[in-house]
Amino acid sequence: MPASKPDLPRAEVMERLEITADLVVLKLRPEVEFEFHSGQYTTLEKDGIERAYSIVSSPHEPILEIFVELVRPPAGHLTPLLLELKKGDFVSIHPGGKGTFTLEADRPNQFMVATVTGVAPFISMIRQYLHSGKRGLKFHLLHGASYQDEFGYREEMEALARKHPGSLAYVATVSRPGQERNRAWQGLTGRVNRMVLEQIQRFGLKPGSTRAYACGHPGMIQDVRKQLLPLGFEVKEEKYWTE
Ligand SMILES: Cc1cc2nc3c(=O)[nH]c(=O)nc-3n(C[C@H](O)[C@H](O)[C@H](O)COP(=O)(O)OP(=O)(O)OC[C@H]3O[C@@H](n4cnc5c(N)ncnc54)[C@H](O)[C@@H]3O)c2cc1C
Repeated sequence: MPASKPDLPRAEVMERLEITADLVVLKLRPEVEFEFHSGQYTTLEKDGIERAYSIVSSPHEPILEIFVELVRPPAGHLTPLLLELKKGDFVSIHPGGKGTFTLEADRPNQFMVATVTGVAPFISMIRQYLHSGKRGLKFHLLHGASYQDEFGYREEMEALARKHPGSLAYVATVSRPGQERNRAWQGLTGRVNRMVLEQIQRFGLKPGSTRAYACGHPGMIQDVRKQLLPLGFEVKEEKYWTE
């Protein structure tokens, strides 16, 4: 088994929350000082395999939170190892945030589209903004998943939207409504990219007063761009892999 990279610091697993058999939230405590901005990612490494993960938690929180989806072997390499981690285990970590997928607070409307774990950077931005006590921005978060148990942060987002209706609207949709696993689902159905235009209209969003973001599945991002760019929206994107 290849050794862990000697130059990377470690982080201890403080908590492991199983969302589904394929989706896990890891709460980590890096052994070194860790600085980042909401929306950024870091890299985790084990057995010589290093991958990028968006940070769910926001900088004011003491613990670093990551939302990981299993990519089954043989395609997946690191995620089978990450899903096996238990409380008290260690993983190597890049000591800080990376990337430019951060909040653009210069326009009042923030329109965010995510597939499953792609919600991570948006959770960080929303937690950070609401914690800061600032007001004036409205976040419109669209979250898509195949199954109703895959959202991970739906309860938190729905509660925050009820508490701060002027700052947050959260819309979740499942793409496989006919499946047994979605039997209890009473919310929206269909792929999240298919409801972008309808939600833009519903919220009355205009390009000049809106920042748009898309994160996660590359096909979703491409489709969102195809719909929004001709209308004059700029779209900030974070693709989790290339197709
Ligand atoms: C900036 C950035 C942030 C990221 N943040 C997250 C995050 O917060 N949570 C997270 O789970 N992943 C995230 N990823 C993806 C992550 O880096 C890994 O690619 C993923 O966890 C799979 O790792 P692996 O080693 O198991 O498989 P890999 O060897 O990386 O992937 C094998 C193949 O599986 C496909 N693939 C990769 N990820 C997925 C997926 N989620 N669903 C379906 N197919 C996939 C790709 O075609 C890839 O070539 C992010 C990627 C980037 C670039």
